[in-house]
Amino acid sequence: MEQNDGGTTGAGRASRAHSGTRHQNVQRVLEALRLSGPSSQAALARRTDLSRATVNSIVKTLREQGVAKLMPVNGRESLVALVSNQGAVVAVQVNVDSLRAALLDFGAGTRLDAAAALRVSDGEGGGHAGLVLDMVRSLAARAGMQPSDLAGVTVGMQAPLARATGTVTSWARLQLPAWKDVVVAETLQDALGAPVFAENDANLAALAEWTWGAGRGSTDFLYVMCSAGVGGGLIIDGRIHRGGDGLAGEIGHLVLEPSGPVCFCGSRGCLTTFVSERSILHALAASGNSLGSLHAVVDGARRGDPACRRVLFEAGRHLGRAFASTAKVMAPSVVAVGGILGEAGPLVFDGLLSSVEVQSLKMVSPGIRFLPAVLGDDATLLGGVALALTESGGGASALPEWARRTHTVRVSNDRAHNR
Ligand SMILES: [Zn+2]
Repeated sequence: MEQNDGGTTGAGRASRAHSGTRHQNVQRVLEALRLSGPSSQAALARRTDLSRATVNSIVKTLREQGVAKLMPVNGRESLVALVSNQGAVVAVQVNVDSLRAALLDFGAGTRLDAAAALRVSDGEGGGHAGLVLDMVRSLAARAGMQPSDLAGVTVGMQAPLARATGTVTSWARLQLPAWKDVVVAETLQDALGAPVFAENDANLAALAEWTWGAGRGSTDFLYVMCSAGVGGGLIIDGRIHRGGDGLAGEIGHLVLEPSGPVCFCGSRGCLTTFVSERSILHALAASGNSLGSLHAVVDGARRGDPACRRVLFEAGRHLGRAFASTAKVMAPSVVAVGGILGEAGPLVFDGLLSSVEVQSLKMVSPGIRFLPAVLGDDATLLGGVALALTESGGGASALPEWARRTHTVRVSNDRAHNR
């Protein structure tokens, strides 16, 4: 970020000054590294359509600037990888009833986490935005910096954001009433003095899984998060696909049964009404089996309880039907399932794959793969980190070990879940 006036390490900047396309070429190499992860210089030349000599010179500059490094493989070859030293970024996750945040300092190689419970009453008069600001400021203080020193802050909202206004979508304000009419990114950016990006939580989780997880290396990637509710995100050519109104990827409201149960979005028979935690618990209750959480259902199924196994198998079948319809339109190469249903593995995937089979999806999309997500409930925060890094002009080809959260986080009231 610093301007180099002395010219001792500014080879790239100096040549950019007398070559109009140098900057564009650097951007192409950065883009290729973001899209494809660590790459050989030959592969970079191929992907960017630049000469080996140009790529070689750009890589040299990026290494001098500390943006890229060489990773030796098998003793002879080495790959170029992005190494973010773009300072520190913060990712915040705004859930209906909780706040989480993490500061990742790529200069120091450290991660700091914070969490707080939210009550609706805290939100009056824009109070939830105030709590987000407090959390970012306190993380920055713990890292010994000012909020304005941050390279970027991403806020992931547990609601879709309307692209035109930057506010929570009107029908989703039922979920986050404290954010009604708050222009999320702008409000926080004005207060923090650092670049702020607001995004839907599932879109961020999708970006994280594409960058560092199950979707890595795919060009078109669909991610669906299934825990309490259902959220989805689409990554096309390495970018979050938001669509015209910012609502692309909201697979949870794909209608499976036009006369099915009423959904909070006002429609009937949405995927959400079949596979959300509440719907699954409700379906199970008909068997006289009243469990308190989706985790408990998964545990029951693992112990062999036939009713628990049945409701998870059916949830998988509903997911498979939704995926088959979606995939016939957008043809993703990878579909990943995150959240508690993704972690349930075959208990859900057996049903999912049987639906895919019935709907002949493999006929139209033979290469499609269905995978459990791998980043667990850290995906939204890591997606926030990935977005802030990309928006600030850098990226990280590999997720450093220190950037993974290692401590146990309580995600439901009946068991601690570590991932
Ligand atoms: Zn709906």
